[in-house]
Amino acid sequence: MRWFSRGPVITDELWEEALHRHPLVARFEKARNGTHKPTTLRALSEKFLRSMQIRWAPGLERSDHVRVSLAMLACLPVLNLDLRWYRRWRTVLIVPRDYETESMEVDEAGVVHEGVSVAAGEYSEWGTVVIALEDLEESGLGTGFNVVIHECAHVLDNANGALDGMPPLHPGMDAVAWSTVFGDAFTDLQRRVIRGRGRGSTRTRGGGGRRSGHRTGPGRRTAFDPYAAEAPEEFFAVASELFFERPRTLEREYPGVYRQLALFYRQDNINGKS
Ligand SMILES: [Zn+2]
Repeated sequence: MRWFSRGPVITDELWEEALHRHPLVARFEKARNGTHKPTTLRALSEKFLRSMQIRWAPGLERSDHVRVSLAMLACLPVLNLDLRWYRRWRTVLIVPRDYETESMEVDEAGVVHEGVSVAAGEYSEWGTVVIALEDLEESGLGTGFNVVIHECAHVLDNANGALDGMPPLHPGMDAVAWSTVFGDAFTDLQRRVIRGRGRGSTRTRGGGGRRSGHRTGPGRRTAFDPYAAEAPEEFFAVASELFFERPRTLEREYPGVYRQLALFYRQDNINGKS
């Protein structure tokens, strides 16, 4: 990284290295080359790094490679939106690996449920995103797992102050259509996940789906991590991971969800239009 008074500039070497580490983005850039200036994502990534404070957990070495990987993956969802969508997001904390989070919920009958889940990252509405480095390195490989896009989806979702699986929609988008499509898909996935329980353990993850091809019922497989069935906002975040990582798979599984996400992100990752 070269530093000028106006902030960091990503060198050719760093950019090429990041594309090599995250082949999904490399393919994406290649597909866009005919229609857009290939420097757009890179320029946006530089702008992102100028506005973001990156903190490193003890023991981690600061790395320009990690900074560029993070910026590149975080800018993919807002490539055709605007960095202003991230204005509530100020800080990224990089931690070495997955970590456990404790949760406690009281149900309607007043029974307390305690649980421990493993998280690859998290978003706090105070403006901090936590990302596990080992999961950042596994993102952007085209497997369906992408912790950065997962957390970015939460930031976008919360742009209207409500983390509920429905970001502020663009003019011309139909809120009723969105709610119907996402509501139906979420209910369907919940049913499939519940039916699939007891057919092998599933590991709850706070940061999004890592594995692809989960068995959720007799003969039916889904690319969705079962974690997506926990809440509408997690469904939106996991669907966003798939939208960028495995768009055809998402389109096959829930075509309506794919179409709504294409309208929201203003990208069509199947037909290469954006
Ligand atoms: Zn999440």
